[in-house]
Amino acid sequence: MKFIEAQRLQKLPPYLFARIEQLIDHKKAQGVDVISLGIGDPDMPTPEHIIQELIKEARNPVNHQYPSSVGMLEFRQAVAGWYKRRFNVELDPKNEVVNLIGSKEGIAHICWCYLDPGDISLVPDPGYPVYGIGSILAGAQPHYMPLKEKNKFLPDFSEIPTEVAKKAKMMFLNYPNNPTGAVADERFFQEAVAFSNEFGVLICHDTPYTEITYDGYRHPSFLQIKGGKEAGIEFHSMSKTYNMTGWRIGWAAGNPDAIDALGRFKSNIDSGQFQAIQKAAVAGLNGTYNELERVNKIYSERRDIVVDCLNSLGWRLEKPRAAFYLWIPVPAGHTSESFAELVLEKAGVVITPGTGYGANGAGYCRISITVDTGRLKEAMERIRQNIGKFSF
Ligand SMILES: *Cc1c(COP(=O)(O)O)cnc(C)c1O
Repeated sequence: MKFIEAQRLQKLPPYLFARIEQLIDHKKAQGVDVISLGIGDPDMPTPEHIIQELIKEARNPVNHQYPSSVGMLEFRQAVAGWYKRRFNVELDPKNEVVNLIGSKEGIAHICWCYLDPGDISLVPDPGYPVYGIGSILAGAQPHYMPLKEKNKFLPDFSEIPTEVAKKAKMMFLNYPNNPTGAVADERFFQEAVAFSNEFGVLICHDTPYTEITYDGYRHPSFLQIKGGKEAGIEFHSMSKTYNMTGWRIGWAAGNPDAIDALGRFKSNIDSGQFQAIQKAAVAGLNGTYNELERVNKIYSERRDIVVDCLNSLGWRLEKPRAAFYLWIPVPAGHTSESFAELVLEKAGVVITPGTGYGANGAGYCRISITVDTGRLKEAMERIRQNIGKFSF
């Protein structure tokens, strides 16, 4: 029996990494030791005290029953405490924080809270695919805001046509940025607050990388801006800061109406995250975290290995100050896809074509540095030896 899929599923854009995956399988079948710099997923382990807390709490039968879909108050209090210490932002844990089964879950579901069929959401391009896809699944139409190198990969709000801005109901932003590694300052966030006030657009700032920063740089929160908490919400996560992508725990914080809407939506479709995982997250948020500096130092060394190698081959890359990606222009005569294929073919190294993150990713590829430093060095050495110098 062939069942006809719903329109909303049929409408999803084709999976752009499908061809790369085919090529990887082909290479592996040939016996090539493929090194993947494709996925942004921390390779280092979750801190030990968080694991110990999970083990302890998993044994407590109280935690074996259904949790609340908005999260334990204790978890939400830990988030509020962390925001206060880290950003000097005051959050009411009861009304201004909601637990998420990974921030990806909340990003997809906030679309269902504010977008009806025919509505418009403002989505950065290139960007994390869930912003656009979440909007499409809710029946809405993403309006893509190009992130251009000449604007330091920040959207130019003045380029958004007034009719679109008037019709738009929400806007996604993401700094430190995946895939470009760009950062935002308080002035940019002030512009976003002003845009929200002028057009009644809910700002959804997705910010899992605030703690993954280098060279002493500290990234601000959207919620610390005057009017930020009225203008929107911020998505954050344990995933990148604490090497916990597999645990699935994050949160949204900010505008109490939007937090309430997301909580009401969630209470109808999920039953929250396992309490033992929430307890472990509390131990992470409240505990001292000496490993972070060490982990960031390792990422920054890896960043330097890649940037120094590529610059010696003809690139002129600057070193990003945050996140764990390098967004590299492709050499002359190449498209994103043809260059990613060349690197896989000649060096057995997977990098992702920028077009996987949106039409404006054309002409770029993304390299993720979440692999063992030795493997990363080997990947760069293979590129140097088997492909060599480029012109741009
Ligand atoms: C990794 C990532 C997420 C997902 O975080 P989870 O909390 O693991 O769901 C969200 N947004 C961006 C931009 C990411 O890179």
